[in-house]
Amino acid sequence: MRKYIWIFILLLVIVLLGFYFLYFGNILFSSPGQTSSPTISPSSSAVSSSSASPTGQEYAFPVARFKERVTKKPFGIYITPQNSPVQPEVFTGYHTGADAEYTDAAIDVPVYAITDGTVVLSRTASGYGGVFMIEIQLNGTPHTILYGHIRPSSLPKVGQKIIKGEQLAVLGTGYSSETDGERQHLHLSILADDRIDVKGYVSSKSQLTGWIDPLSLY
Ligand SMILES: [Zn+2]
Repeated sequence: MRKYIWIFILLLVIVLLGFYFLYFGNILFSSPGQTSSPTISPSSSAVSSSSASPTGQEYAFPVARFKERVTKKPFGIYITPQNSPVQPEVFTGYHTGADAEYTDAAIDVPVYAITDGTVVLSRTASGYGGVFMIEIQLNGTPHTILYGHIRPSSLPKVGQKIIKGEQLAVLGTGYSSETDGERQHLHLSILADDRIDVKGYVSSKSQLTGWIDPLSLY
């Protein structure tokens, strides 16, 4: 008789374990319809090589953990060499983009297409090192997006068609010609229309109307 009791307890434990894994399995592998935090990238690593877009999000992140890594220079901040959160500082003006900090990354940091589009500029430029721009549709109208401080050898080609979440390049190595001497970070600017304009700073606050806060997309 004791033998049957032990078999019964064993079966009960197996059934309970089954329910346990079903429940937590659903949380770990939630489907697109379920809510998940938009600030957490799908990968637990800081620099994911998988999709940068959290499940169900309209626009992919331009770099993994984009929102939580905009810690020093958000959109619109007024910077001078004296007040800048980054020292030493060479720029003065109102920041046209948002900077995602990656000075702690030990491996190459991929950047991604936030949505479908076309590469419209790809070169090196003073203040950026490698820089490229893509043209996309945002709320039904054409806009351009600038990715700055990119490794020149990884730049995409002008005319290249891109799709949401696709890896386009990697960040330049900090304090090298790849970033024009800047720390390793992504400068992302979203222009309010489809013009080609690589300005990272503007001299008056009113000029900021030519750009959109990248964090407003997420
Ligand atoms: Zn910047």
